[in-house]
Amino acid sequence: MSSLEKILGIASGKGGVGKTTVAINLSAAMKEFGKNNVIVDADISNANLSVQLGFQYIPVTLQDVLSGNINILQAIRIHPTGLRIIPASLSIDNVNVDIASLRTHLEQLTEMVILDFPPGLRDDVRTLIGLCDEILVVTNPELTSITDALKTIEVARKMKKIVVGIVLNRVRKDKYELTSSEVEDVCEIPVIARIPEDKNIRKANFNHMPVIYYKPYAPSSIEFLRLAALLTGHRFKPPPFMRLRQIFSFM
Ligand code: ADP
Ligand code: MG
Repeated sequence: MSSLEKILGIASGKGGVGKTTVAINLSAAMKEFGKNNVIVDADISNANLSVQLGFQYIPVTLQDVLSGNINILQAIRIHPTGLRIIPASLSIDNVNVDIASLRTHLEQLTEMVILDFPPGLRDDVRTLIGLCDEILVVTNPELTSITDALKTIEVARKMKKIVVGIVLNRVRKDKYELTSSEVEDVCEIPVIARIPEDKNIRKANFNHMPVIYYKPYAPSSIEFLRLAALLTGHRFKPPPFMRLRQIFSFM
């Protein structure tokens, strides 16, 4: 019997909405709540998980696993912060692999898998949805992003997958964006996190770090921790004197 805990897909629809950012920070924040996990870069044609985390040398990749050259355990790389990832190859020669066998390989892992999705709804994305146990949908609070997210949700529903919720990312709280309840009305899925637009995310990215470690009191970090607590069944209380901590940590 497989001992794999579960596969949580981080999907969107539209590209560039923050899937990889959510995958990285959710992975780190879940570890803080004691949930071991590994992020797998399933964005084969535009792999950038390893780039965002600053890995320079990637000797073995997911493509080697899928081609049967190596065991999946040999492809795990460990980031200085302790994050565990399975990178995809950056070479354009390695995009034509068949991901249909991915679940069989993932079954050899004992921890939870966070699957960082490609955008769109091509066949490979449908295959990826099919092999997940649960899907988290990331979207920005704007119409184009929501309509694409809705298509992904519909495909997941048809495949009888659990969509655990929507993460609204890059929330600015201005009058041009959709509210959580509008998004919930359209998608019929609860918004379970609202990650603010936060320049610390780009700074953390530049430094190849999850923002929750780079600036633990940044508004986005607090929201990632809140989301991880929710998904791991913990109660989350923001640290006391948040405002003060934020002011001092930004100096
Ligand atoms: P995707 O994986 O969906 O293509 P990424 O996670 O790579 O998207 O994010 C795209 C860009 O947006 C990155 O440069 C990232 O740093 C930036 N970004 C993501 N979320 C936020 C946010 N909440 N605030 C500011 N910048 C963000
Ligand atoms: Mg990405």
